[in-house]
Amino acid sequence: MKCWASSVDGCKGGQSGEHLVTQGLFEGKTAIAGGFRWLRTPLQEVPLTALKANILCRDHNSRLSVLDSAAITVFRTVREIEAIQARRMTLRPRRIYDVLSYRLPGPAFERWCMKTVINIIVALEKTAVWPDGAAASTPPAPIVAAVFGRGRLPAPVGLYFALHPESPVPPGPGVSLAPLFTGVNTVLGATLSFCTAFRDGVVVTMRRRSRAGSSTRPSR
Ligand SMILES: [Zn+2]
Repeated sequence: MKCWASSVDGCKGGQSGEHLVTQGLFEGKTAIAGGFRWLRTPLQEVPLTALKANILCRDHNSRLSVLDSAAITVFRTVREIEAIQARRMTLRPRRIYDVLSYRLPGPAFERWCMKTVINIIVALEKTAVWPDGAAASTPPAPIVAAVFGRGRLPAPVGLYFALHPESPVPPGPGVSLAPLFTGVNTVLGATLSFCTAFRDGVVVTMRRRSRAGSSTRPSR
């Protein structure tokens, strides 16, 4: 049996087919993928069935489903903010709009990003190596532990947020994922991109000390 989380604790329940990227994030039957060496074009539509692999045992897979819920919450909130912005754009301009604040499950979303990067490296980039020199199927134990909520990610590993106005992400509800390498084959991380219509009224802040890791507030 194959399970990339076996360094956390014992595997149970036999092999499980893990969706490489959370199913609830996609509304259609295909996803957009980019940056993988097995893809022939920079961005390509991939059938969802191609994004499933035997890389976790049933027990470890089910313990990570809470992270899928966090990711769905984050993307649903982003879409809600976009919808409110679009509605406000059709209204008569006002000097001040009500300020709306949203709390996102930041730490859980960060863990979801880490598990998704591990999923795609283990399943799709089998010849890659991790920075500690281990094979693709054996992600670093401290990162795996943090994905399972045991300890913090070792700095500077983590989720970073950037806006790319010129980024070639196709419009729509999909999420695109692209692994990053240093040298020939060593995993550096991944970019996770999604198209938003955020305008200059949206402020995203990260608050480390609070239980929720970030909040987003459109102010116009
Ligand atoms: Zn396992």
